[in-house]
Amino acid sequence: MKLARVATPDGMAFAAIEGEQGSETAREIAEHPFGEPTFTGRIWPLNQIRLLAPILASKVIAIGKNYADHAAEMGSVPPENPVIFLKPNTAIIGPGVPIVRPPSSQRVDYEGELAVVIGRPCKDVKAAQANKVILGYTVANDVTARDQQQADGQWTRGKGYDTFCPLGPWIETDLDVADLAISTTLDGAERQSSRTSLMLHSVGDIIEWISAVMTLMPGDVILTGTPAGVGPMAAGQTVAVTVEGIGTLTNPVVEK
Ligand code: MG
Repeated sequence: MKLARVATPDGMAFAAIEGEQGSETAREIAEHPFGEPTFTGRIWPLNQIRLLAPILASKVIAIGKNYADHAAEMGSVPPENPVIFLKPNTAIIGPGVPIVRPPSSQRVDYEGELAVVIGRPCKDVKAAQANKVILGYTVANDVTARDQQQADGQWTRGKGYDTFCPLGPWIETDLDVADLAISTTLDGAERQSSRTSLMLHSVGDIIEWISAVMTLMPGDVILTGTPAGVGPMAAGQTVAVTVEGIGTLTNPVVEK
């Protein structure tokens, strides 16, 4: 199922996106999408609604250097264990919403990533059990003020600006993410192209590592790291991240 959060003429709702590409509809969900969703009976054509960020997370946990080629381009070797950091949930935006470049940064980069959405409260999850706590998967852009990330020595400021966590277009709940194509384009030109099979730490290992530290809540989002090819975005450009089997997350870039 493709789970979305949508703005309809009547307000905000979760919805299941159904139908062929180009003629999709949004089947409105009553209340929340966790567990077996119930439906209101209302169905909206996609052109009558707006897709929002597909989930409201209590926190976004991200993995640094989870592809060897990206660690190499950052001038470092991949860490033995996953390196984790937090992005504030106030950084989340949906498809089509502008990424705002703060004037304090000279270099704001895209990082295309596969994102995991957690489906139930959990702690100390073993990798082999991770599928039981996953709601589904979406596409993320781990937008980064690269100059501030490097200047500060830790990443909260460079990764934490409002609009620095685009998510969407929806959550795919039925997906094997072991070997999916992931790519990023800037103004239509390909900048990143890799496969999730090249992740150094698998989704199961990542969930085991993170949930040993903190309780994960329904809707929490885990960004699984970016492959090589990161680079800067200028105001006026459009960035698009695609993960095979999910879809494409597109956002324009503006200056504050
Ligand atoms: Mg990243």
